[in-house]
Amino acid sequence: MRVLVTGGAGFVGSHLCDALIARGDAVVCVDDLSTGCAGNVSQLTGLAGFELVVADVSAGLAIDGPLDAVAHLASPASPRDYLARPLPTLAVGSRGTEHAIRLAHDRRARFLLASTSEVYGDPAVHPQPESYWGNVNPVGPRSVYDEAKRFAEALTAAYARELGTNAGIIRIFNTYGPRMKATDGRVVTSFIAQALRGRPLTVYGDGSQTRSFCYIDDLVRGVIAMLDRAEPGPINLGNDEEIPVIDLARMVRRLTGSASPVEYRPLPADDPARRRPVIAKAAEVLGWSPAVPAEEGLRRTIAWFRSRPEGLGEAAQAGARPGAGATGR
Ligand code: NAD
Ligand code: UDP
Repeated sequence: MRVLVTGGAGFVGSHLCDALIARGDAVVCVDDLSTGCAGNVSQLTGLAGFELVVADVSAGLAIDGPLDAVAHLASPASPRDYLARPLPTLAVGSRGTEHAIRLAHDRRARFLLASTSEVYGDPAVHPQPESYWGNVNPVGPRSVYDEAKRFAEALTAAYARELGTNAGIIRIFNTYGPRMKATDGRVVTSFIAQALRGRPLTVYGDGSQTRSFCYIDDLVRGVIAMLDRAEPGPINLGNDEEIPVIDLARMVRRLTGSASPVEYRPLPADDPARRRPVIAKAAEVLGWSPAVPAEEGLRRTIAWFRSRPEGLGEAAQAGARPGAGATGR
């Protein structure tokens, strides 16, 4: 296959590019390097079959040659990143998605939208099955991401329904692993960087809010399974091991051997209280389930961060993020 990966120089995208190249596909990676970096795909540059195109998919998408699939991952993903880029986030979810799906449609290629558990907002149904419509504040700070992804889902479903495009939607739940930026403000990276630097672990709110963390290798297997099928979805991809944020802080402290204290900070606006995927559909339709428990995935991620201490950046000091302050509850 020849696969276009938008956002291919980001955290998830670069692992997807690695896996596609490893199985013999050709990959065109399009990325504007706004939240990703060329270093994430430097191991692939120079290989036959891999091409990096630096471009903004919201402005257009002109790729020559045949394409068998388009995996549309371009979008800031961490709250710190999208809250700092509200308009580009809305643009890439709307115009960027339209450019990507139009290209896929015109080339008769499979289109895969990387959507998110954020479409469920602060969920009133727990755990979250794909049939749940969500609870999103349409004008809150997080809406620039949530509503852009909800629009992208609507657009993808309409192309499939109205034009017969071979399009599918995955809803990715919190995923972590090597190549995340220590400064991206996400909880796993922040806690690891803080613990390794001996700084306080910044817990927002009282830490009782939960997330369910999926290791990157598991996620990529699911993404490829969905890319290879003419399945519309939406399908949740995530690990259903649900962990309160305060327990994650304690786990990271234990696994790093750090003596860092916990420091409580205000809960950001509209921060979802709990999140756990129902993954029965992924098992049934894709034969997919996660294999890496949080403790093992965290060990691997910590080892990666330890191997590159220069990458720990300023995360340790950077507790607050844009949009933090007013509490959602
Ligand atoms: P990331 O920020 O590491 O990667 C996103 C990539 O998209 C970056 O390389 C960035 O430079 C690129 N990009 C952003 N806007 C662009 C534009 N206009 N044109 C071209 N490239 C652009 O984030 P990630 O964690 O790798 O997330 C990848 C995708 O997966 C996103 O669509 C995100 O919404 C989705 N997702 C991720 C998670 C997660 O936990 N990592 C959870 C749910 C959904
Ligand atoms: N969080 C935290 N401390 C941090 C970063 C995040 O307590 O330094 C919390 C955040 O409030 C949320 C959870 O951890 O409840 C996950 O945050 P993240 O930004 O990783 O992803 P989200 O699921 O909110 O998109």
